[in-house]
Amino acid sequence: MNELETLNGVGVKTVKILNRLGIYTKEDLISYYPFRFDILEKSDMDKTLQDDKVIIDGIVEKIPTVFFFNKKLNKMNFLFNSGSNIYNVVIFNRAYLKSKLNVGTKITIIGKYDKKHNSLVASDIRLSLLPRVPIIEPIYHVCNGITSKELNKIIKNNLNNLDIEEYIPEYLIERYKLSNKKQSIIEIHNPTSKNNLNKALNYLKYEELFLFMLKINYLKNNRTDLYGLERKVDKNKVVEFINSLPFKLTDDQLKGVKDIYTDLTNIKRMNRLLQGDVGSGKTIVAVVALFINYLANYQGALMAPTEILAVQHYNNLINYFKNTDIKVELLTGKMKVSEKKKIYKRLLNNEIDILIGTHALFSDDVVYNNLGLVITDEQHRFGVNQRSSLKNKGITPDILYLSATPIPRTYALTIYGDMDISSIHTRPEGRKEVITLLKSNNEIKDVLDLIYQELKKKHQIYVIAPLIEESENSDMENVYELKDKMDRAFSKICTTGILHGKMTSKEKDEVMEKYKNNEISILISTTVIEVGVDVRNATVMVIFDSFRFGLSQLHQLRGRVGRNELQSYCVLISDKEAERLDVLTKTTDGFKVSEEDFKLRGSGDLFGTRQSGDMQFRIADIKHDFNILLRAKEDSQEVLSSKEYVNNKKYFLLRKVLEKSMNNS
Ligand code: ADP
Ligand code: MG
Repeated sequence: MNELETLNGVGVKTVKILNRLGIYTKEDLISYYPFRFDILEKSDMDKTLQDDKVIIDGIVEKIPTVFFFNKKLNKMNFLFNSGSNIYNVVIFNRAYLKSKLNVGTKITIIGKYDKKHNSLVASDIRLSLLPRVPIIEPIYHVCNGITSKELNKIIKNNLNNLDIEEYIPEYLIERYKLSNKKQSIIEIHNPTSKNNLNKALNYLKYEELFLFMLKINYLKNNRTDLYGLERKVDKNKVVEFINSLPFKLTDDQLKGVKDIYTDLTNIKRMNRLLQGDVGSGKTIVAVVALFINYLANYQGALMAPTEILAVQHYNNLINYFKNTDIKVELLTGKMKVSEKKKIYKRLLNNEIDILIGTHALFSDDVVYNNLGLVITDEQHRFGVNQRSSLKNKGITPDILYLSATPIPRTYALTIYGDMDISSIHTRPEGRKEVITLLKSNNEIKDVLDLIYQELKKKHQIYVIAPLIEESENSDMENVYELKDKMDRAFSKICTTGILHGKMTSKEKDEVMEKYKNNEISILISTTVIEVGVDVRNATVMVIFDSFRFGLSQLHQLRGRVGRNELQSYCVLISDKEAERLDVLTKTTDGFKVSEEDFKLRGSGDLFGTRQSGDMQFRIADIKHDFNILLRAKEDSQEVLSSKEYVNNKKYFLLRKVLEKSMNNS
């Protein structure tokens, strides 16, 4: 029986939903922290301006009238008396509330104040007055099948029966006068006051950053591999290769190449991060690095977070190296065992120079003959431990990470400490800025027009939907239906195709291949194409229900177009959250986008990588909590260096949790 099923109010069905949120154990459940807290506190209407958010309670003055636009869309109006004023209230799609709103019914309105019209545009109506003390509501990221409230209830129902282990050493708790873990966890899921909540947040942020830095410091302390390979390389051959490329490298790309050349020909082991916004051209720098490494007769490995991306890299490299003797191979987890075995054998015999693939590149069966360079693309998608997994293989190749996630230098240095950084600031010349448009579903005709115009020019289109297929619990757009719609509109002039995570590798490859060759003009996909995919002839990215996505994620998707000298467009279709999405229409700078993302959501998701990876914090964020991070860095080092750490009982749990985190991901 699943551990979660033993909990109050959790059945088989709920377990499945919790799993979808990444919750598998009781510990996962209690540490599934809210990403935001809504504070329900009565607004002072005298100080409220046009369009401000307001919370106000009172009674229904006059019963509502409802107007139906169609089956889904309706609008309700009524008069509301706050005790000091009478307002006109408007709310959409809540016709079902009408019967509950009688004259005199006590209600609370949450929404926006339209001062000019003495009107409240409600986003929510609650059938009670506000309590005297402000209510603080924890809000969680959820998925179909469960609401934030329901999840909160499940957690609250079980909080008291759970063992909550304290990892932070007692002396540190005393040093910072921290609360304790159990209390903090209870408070965060069931906030009692702003003050108490802040204390709880403080504890949990410190704990998270402490454990994170403990791991980083541990990895760093145990590095025995400061020295690497000192390669003898003929510089002229590198220059020749660069000149043979189909385009001229930008200054920043050349600077990156130089940094890497110096590292690779130097005895010090390379540990470098190459960062640059989407579309800045990181891949080619990696290609030159692999070439330099090859010239010194070492094998190279290039790891990508998705299969689609690995296949793309493979095809590109074959092309870049077509005039050389370099033997490039592809290895992915989904390949047949027999195929894999062949590759292992050739790899060991040094018959493969460059191996490209997913995680599979470092599985236990893979043994390199003389691995000299490892490159990880979209590095932020992988965990920190990937570094130690190499070490466990007893090899110390040079390492290059590529990342589109703009990490401010100071943060990166603090966290990685020992990593060098090269940055690409400018995009290849001749690129036009992608024009980003925000459209509502009513304006779909404009979008179809734009697609039509671009199709006429033989350009290609991406269409993104949040769902793969129709879902009972959601009226969000899905890939299959959108394909039908696109076919209805454009089948006379072009072919469409679909791509999503449930397809087999073979199906995915075939579709991508066709799209690359422009045999498919419109690709309807989920966010599987979010990272790295490079089809230069695509000029339009249309994202349905874009409110579903984080700004950084949308920025990544937008990065799939604007990869040539043509004018490209990104259309965000959404009937909600226009204000947030508008940020993207104003800037194409990835760094600004992620900062805004962070400001608006106030979550630890600064790096837009909710799924996995290094920078994923549940509750802390390294920007706001940078001071806590610095403290955690020193404290964790202090603990690791203390003589007692290795064998004193009081550090037993801490050692256990460190060990566990090393084995995960
Ligand atoms: P990213 O940094 O997002 O990984 P890519 O490496 O995929 O970007 O490069 C984006 C596109 O720009 C690719 O099609 C690539 O071939 C092209 N490109 C890269 N460098 C240059 C350059 N110096 N001049 C022209 N095109 C370039
Ligand atoms: Mg890339």
